[in-house]
Amino acid sequence: MAERELTCQELVELITSYLDDALTSEERQRLEHHLMYCHGCRAYLEQMRATLRLVGRLSAEDIPDDLRLGLLTAFRGLRKNADDA
Ligand SMILES: [Zn+2]
Repeated sequence: MAERELTCQELVELITSYLDDALTSEERQRLEHHLMYCHGCRAYLEQMRATLRLVGRLSAEDIPDDLRLGLLTAFRGLRKNADDA
C-alpha cells in the first residue's frame, strides 16, 4: 500500500478522532508525521487541546460544529498570514 502524505484538510477532519484516541495506528502515524513538518496544523492541534481543556470533561465530538468551524477559520487565517510573511 502506497504511503501518501496527509493533507491539512484531512488532518483537520481526523483531529477529533485523534484527540479521542480513536484512530488506527496507521492513521495516527500519518497524522503525527504531518504535524512534524506542518506548523499550521500543530497550532490547530494546540487550539483544539486548549478548547478541550476549557470545556473540561466533554469529548472532542461534543465540541459544537460552529466552534470547530471557528477554529478552522482561525487556522486558515494563520496559514494565510504565514504565506504573506
Ligand atoms: Zn498541515
